[in-house]
Amino acid sequence: MLYALALEQLLRDPVEGGRLYYCTADGGFEERVVPLDSESRASARTVLDVVGRALADGFLPAAPVAGACRWCDYRPVCGPHEEARVARKPPERLADLARLRALR
Ligand code: SF4
Repeated sequence: MLYALALEQLLRDPVEGGRLYYCTADGGFEERVVPLDSESRASARTVLDVVGRALADGFLPAAPVAGACRWCDYRPVCGPHEEARVARKPPERLADLARLRALR
């Protein structure tokens, strides 16, 4: 969506959408087309608002979902206790992140 929006700005012409292509056997060599419609524009706006607010506030918390750290390549950097630490964070501080995760 961000590429499609950037292209729309560059071309100063409407863009119909974006396309993902999974070029691996695991991805099934499938194509996913994401239309640049009012719903996807609203989702992109939400993402940009949340990320912008996080950067402005200097609050970019690690908040892995249950089990995410187990196989993550960054575990040596984060350490083994990130899931326990996130459980102690005030839920209201993670509300924006929950909103992002709920987007479709
Ligand atoms: S190890 Fe770190 S980067 Fe990986 S899922 Fe856990 S918190 Fe996120």
